[in-house]
Amino acid sequence: MKTVDIRSTEPVKRSRSIEQLVAGRPTSDGAGVRLTRVLTQAQQRRLDPFLMLDAFGSENPDDYIAGFPDHPHRGFETVTYMIAGRMRHRDNHGHEGLLGNGGMQWMTAGRGIVHSEIPEQQEGVMEGFQLWLNLPSNEKMCVPWYRDFAAEDLPRFSLDGAFDVTVIAGESHGVTGAVTREGTAPLFLDVHMQPGATFSQQLPAGHNAFIYVYRGAVASAGGVIPVQRLAVLGNEPDADGVSIDSPEEARFLLIAGKPLNEPIVQYGPFVMNNDQEIYQAIADFREARFG
Ligand code: MN
Repeated sequence: MKTVDIRSTEPVKRSRSIEQLVAGRPTSDGAGVRLTRVLTQAQQRRLDPFLMLDAFGSENPDDYIAGFPDHPHRGFETVTYMIAGRMRHRDNHGHEGLLGNGGMQWMTAGRGIVHSEIPEQQEGVMEGFQLWLNLPSNEKMCVPWYRDFAAEDLPRFSLDGAFDVTVIAGESHGVTGAVTREGTAPLFLDVHMQPGATFSQQLPAGHNAFIYVYRGAVASAGGVIPVQRLAVLGNEPDADGVSIDSPEEARFLLIAGKPLNEPIVQYGPFVMNNDQEIYQAIADFREARFG
């Protein structure tokens, strides 16, 4: 996909505030993959429809090489975005794919999938993100779906000398992302800023939004967002978006979505609306009814 050159950024009249800065929590998951849980269960309600954001990044293969062997998911979607490195995906429906540098996988677990996510490299840097996006109650038991996108298949746009933006989901500056969703209307941008640039993004009132800075630092509405911090953006009713300045070269994810306002009951890799549905998920998985 070719990069679209835009002429200017769309002005935002009033930018959302920075409500809170959150430092991620170092943890490990899968077969000992070291990662930072940037969006934890503590923010699930505030950042509805987003359930989790993990950042993994290491030059030490011992931190990631064993990957995530076979495990189930039910009731939500996962978006895996690789900055660097290769990840092999296999599931119990016979699907297989390899994500490379800059690639993205969108997976809708729906009623159930069992898969493995294993790095396919013996050395070098692996860096990426996995975002969990909730499904509305009436879609939690939908047919599982996934698609892999190579870096060159992801829509991009740029403003010369200011920024380059990859549109993973939603729409920005007239460019439609790789994936769009009605129920949660997710926006997922990877923004690379040059020193002294300003990037503005319109955001619908009421949608929950956050920024995660993974290189450099940015400033927004009078506050600084340092590297490796998640900034929860305020939901001021008169704010029409967010405006971000970069005093230095910086890279960040801008993520927003429409809250579902439904009960969230999570048990590990199952996210449903009530305990009964969780018991059912556990029973279905044990009795191999996931596909
Ligand atoms: Mn998984």
